[in-house]
Amino acid sequence: VRMLPDARYRPAEVVPERNPMTRAPLDMSFTYLRGASPMYTDYLINMGVRASLTLAITQGETLWGLVACHHYSPRMVPHDVRTACEVLARVVSLQVGDKQLHDEASYRQRIEEVHRLLALGITQHDAIGFALTQGSPNLLDFFECHGAAVVSDTDFHSVGAIPPESFIRELVIWLSEKKVGEVFSTDSLPTLYPVAEFHQKTACGLLALPLSKLSNEYVLWFRPEYLHSVNWAGDPSKPVELADEGVRLTPRKSFSLWQEKVRGKSKPWTALEVDSARSFRNSLKETVFNRSEEFARLNAELTRSNVELDSFAFVAGHDLKEPLRGIYNYAGFLLEDYESKFDESGKAKLQTMVRLTKRMQQLIDSLLSFSRVGKTALSFVPVDLNIVVSDALDLIGERLRETDGRVESPRPLPTVIADSTGLTEVYSNLISNASKYNDKATKQITVGYFDPLEADFPARAAGAAVCLYVRDNGIGIPEKHHDDIFRIFRRLHPQDHFGGGTGAGLTIVKKIVERHGGDVWLESCGNQGTTFFFTLPVREG
Ligand code: ADP
Repeated sequence: VRMLPDARYRPAEVVPERNPMTRAPLDMSFTYLRGASPMYTDYLINMGVRASLTLAITQGETLWGLVACHHYSPRMVPHDVRTACEVLARVVSLQVGDKQLHDEASYRQRIEEVHRLLALGITQHDAIGFALTQGSPNLLDFFECHGAAVVSDTDFHSVGAIPPESFIRELVIWLSEKKVGEVFSTDSLPTLYPVAEFHQKTACGLLALPLSKLSNEYVLWFRPEYLHSVNWAGDPSKPVELADEGVRLTPRKSFSLWQEKVRGKSKPWTALEVDSARSFRNSLKETVFNRSEEFARLNAELTRSNVELDSFAFVAGHDLKEPLRGIYNYAGFLLEDYESKFDESGKAKLQTMVRLTKRMQQLIDSLLSFSRVGKTALSFVPVDLNIVVSDALDLIGERLRETDGRVESPRPLPTVIADSTGLTEVYSNLISNASKYNDKATKQITVGYFDPLEADFPARAAGAAVCLYVRDNGIGIPEKHHDDIFRIFRRLHPQDHFGGGTGAGLTIVKKIVERHGGDVWLESCGNQGTTFFFTLPVREG
């Protein structure tokens, strides 16, 4: 409690000014009666006030507010009234503190509960962004805000009112360049990032958590502009003027109500919110970290088992060939040298045995070629696809002639960056299938491509450098088989129909295309024929 009984008082000196023993100035903190700053007394006089009594409402060491009492004539407030005022100020201080603690405790409790549920949610979803925005609770329940988003180079998830995605993507780049720490918060984004001025209705305040530098992953909460008025006793932007003498500042002289419209600011982010965001980030990072460790482990395991599988297929194929050749030869000897000793049924059984060993031989050869595709290194160089297709036609020339297949291209094929041996194998498999699985008198096979700049570039090929296709007018493939025909040894027809086969061709095609980083699929309608598409990704070189 501070009292000034008369603003026009004549100050008296403190004698001595410093304690002669300690040289320290006199501590007057708790003195009721003491001189005030001339700024303050001038201010009172400008308002026509002669006496004042002020009660401080404090929160710990911090001043929370003031009760200021003014009197138009000099007035000495008696001791008992001052004591009563002091008690009042203490009680109000305690009440304010209690209320704040209570409000904060229930908000903190809510934040902690949402934190717990969200942390649980992300362990059950692959996509963190999805888990944080689409479920209940979600990021909007975390803090009092109107919109939130989780964004990375590859993903974008949002909930509530947010600015456009393009703005958010630019904002994230700005945040990355700014190298913000664990948490970034502002209640006035436009003052730091001027473009935000156009999005104040959604993004005036921002609280951002950077998750991954590698993929520019951020969790963002947005607050809209909070338009409100503040009443001041006089214009606060002009609190002082220079006195006539020019040597000291004097307080303003006008005290008419001055209303300020606060613009360009959201509700501020409290210390509790910023701290909670920081600990939420730690939970997220832990999950992301555990997950990437798990991915790395699974990846290593997968690579190892792929390598093992390829080597197993290779070794098993080689080792099986030898005894199989023996069985085949001995079955042949039996048929030739002991023909007279077998009756018709015995001979038929031996012939089946020869046929089955031949079949097994083919299957082993297919397995070997498949495992070879996985083992050989690809070399990516510019490859003229016209030459690749012509090489493929040379390889399968005989079969084409047998089936009377006609291959044509609507326009010359482009040059791509790829492994030419691999692509020759892709084309020879696709073209030979196109002529094999064809019951038309004229077997039309079209080899062509789509350029990404063309309007008819297939949607599934989006992002690829080129989309290539092989189209036929053959028997077609029912939709339910569009996936399984790519599985090894999967055939849709009895063994010797349509010229036979082992069912490894498309599996090899898929493996080669995928090793190039591309995608393969097909379209087929009824007996009208089939088109196989495959893409090659954009590659430097
Ligand atoms: P294979 O030709 O040795 O049987 P593939 O893996 O090349 O093995 O093909 C798997 C199956 O997919 C074939 O058996 C056939 O039933 C079907 N198929 C492949 N290409 C075509 C096509 N162009 N038209 C119709 N069916 C096809």
